[in-house]
Amino acid sequence: MSLVVQKFGGTSVADGEKILSAARKAVRAHQNGHQVIMVVSAMGKNTDMLVQMASEISEAPPAREMDMLLSTGEQVSVALMAMAIDSLGYQAVSLTGSQIGIKTDSSHTKARIQHISTERILSLLDQGNIVIAAGFQGIDENLNITTLGRGGSDTTAVALAAVLQAEACEIYTDVDGVYTTDPRILPEARLIATVNYDEMLELASLGAGVMHSRSIEFGKKFNVAIRVRSSLSDAFGSLIIDQAQTRELPVSGAALTPDEARISIRDVPDVPGTIYQLFLMLAEAKVTVDMIVQNVSDDGTADISFTVPRDEAEETFQALAPVVQALGGRMGKTDPDVSKVSVVGMGMATQVGVANRMFRALANANVSMQMITTSEIKISALVRRDQALSALRTVHAEFGLDTGATDTTSFSYEPTPQTQIDAADVVDRLQKTGMESLVIDDIVLDDTQARVTLTGVPNEPGIAAAVFDRVASNGIFVDMIVQSYADDRNADISFTVPAEQFDASLDVATKIQQEFECDGLNYKSQIAKLTVSGIGLRSHTGVAVEMFKALNEANINVDMINTSEVRVNVVVDGVQGQAGLKCLREQFASAMR
Ligand code: ADP
Ligand code: ASP
Ligand code: MG
Repeated sequence: MSLVVQKFGGTSVADGEKILSAARKAVRAHQNGHQVIMVVSAMGKNTDMLVQMASEISEAPPAREMDMLLSTGEQVSVALMAMAIDSLGYQAVSLTGSQIGIKTDSSHTKARIQHISTERILSLLDQGNIVIAAGFQGIDENLNITTLGRGGSDTTAVALAAVLQAEACEIYTDVDGVYTTDPRILPEARLIATVNYDEMLELASLGAGVMHSRSIEFGKKFNVAIRVRSSLSDAFGSLIIDQAQTRELPVSGAALTPDEARISIRDVPDVPGTIYQLFLMLAEAKVTVDMIVQNVSDDGTADISFTVPRDEAEETFQALAPVVQALGGRMGKTDPDVSKVSVVGMGMATQVGVANRMFRALANANVSMQMITTSEIKISALVRRDQALSALRTVHAEFGLDTGATDTTSFSYEPTPQTQIDAADVVDRLQKTGMESLVIDDIVLDDTQARVTLTGVPNEPGIAAAVFDRVASNGIFVDMIVQSYADDRNADISFTVPAEQFDASLDVATKIQQEFECDGLNYKSQIAKLTVSGIGLRSHTGVAVEMFKALNEANINVDMINTSEVRVNVVVDGVQGQAGLKCLREQFASAMR
């Protein structure tokens, strides 16, 4: 008999009527011969209300007690859901996280799932019950209640679908599926019929709140096809799968992370240990760092900028200031009024000229980019918060996301028997080592590229567009791009190109330097790009730190960095490529799958 998981979010169980309507969906699947597990969130804004209540009592409530409090939201809704099913004449049993046996680590309010017991659920299903599982919660080894982080019921649902080898995992919510961007922010957003795991991982972590990003990590690791659909209709929705892309558009979606802050560190020694010490400090403070950009310096010192969530800016500054001072550098001014606008798409990995299109469109809309970072399937730009919405609308339109014909015809997705066998194998193995533990797929060296850096570039709208228009029109394929923030007037722009296009790139850069009166130009004709790829690299903040640690011990300096959900890339001097590869392989030996 086939098994389906149906997850209902807060708005889909906000009142009695909605609970009954969700119950009917589960009953219908049951009548169609499926075994059904429902995963349910707290009703409506209940979790927000609980958070608010805690804040009225204490400025810093203990995390353990927050979990105790927040888990009650889901306990209410599972019980009501079981009563609803019962009232429809079917058998149901509700279970809390601990009753299911969802074992997590002890990091309260952001716990990770280690193991899920299946016996109780399976025996209840075999007795003809619809099983109703509380989302978002688990239990640690000392029987303390834990929660998985806001939005975590998605993760419970996909994790259950994974261990139970469910045929389907349906996420019922208040939109019809995954859109090209948040339809509440841009009404012109369109539904996407199928999304690849990697795209969804990036979109979710860059602000597309429709799915908890860790749920997509589970989907990818265990090959669970996830269907996101409306709880108010029977429309097909969107499918998140491991799909080979055949997209015409280079970009599949756009996202906005509105509340970011930019932190700048100045004049620290440009030696291998610096970046390691800084990021060790940040990892220990559990700050989520993004858009890390290091200027390639001429004078032996480096400036480093990165973004953090705005509400972590002050804490980050305080944690870093003493370390930076001890290193002989100083803290630059923090800018708390910035937002990150990103575009994501598998298509861009194989097409040229995507980045300059984005930069040109933003320049035409008079939006100035303070920082830029790219990875294989995403480009992010940091902009002033008051320009963020127009920046999002501009890039969304530039890539045709508001008009592109969206294929919403329903189709069924049949995983091949082979992938099911593989998934069973992975589930087995990871149940033993920790379901959400870090998985590294590969560590590779690319020593076929060169780097060009323009320093002291006047920071005005259109400058990045001019640079990369020129580069693209010369047929040069750009891989990594970073633009740092130096001060209000100047930026540094670095990019990597194939080594055989180095001479041509240098010619272009020299002309640009003269024309735009940039301070300087530096380059390396051979660089080594070292890539660690895996799943959930950003949520495992320690990965970048481990890389810096290993490189530091091997005395290798890092020139450029970029991070994404599935990859961390660092650029080092070409002659150190092999040594870098060796030390990273040793460092991550135990996390390789
Ligand atoms: P639930 O309570 O069902 O978990 P959420 O509020 O967590 O629902 O997620 C649904 C919301 O996600 C939508 O109402 C929408 O505003 C928002 N959202 C953000 N980005 C996207 C996107 N790219 N596609 C669809 N919805 C999005
Ligand atoms: N109720 C929890 C929250 O609001 C979990 C969830 O809805 O996914 O964050
Ligand atoms: Mg949600």
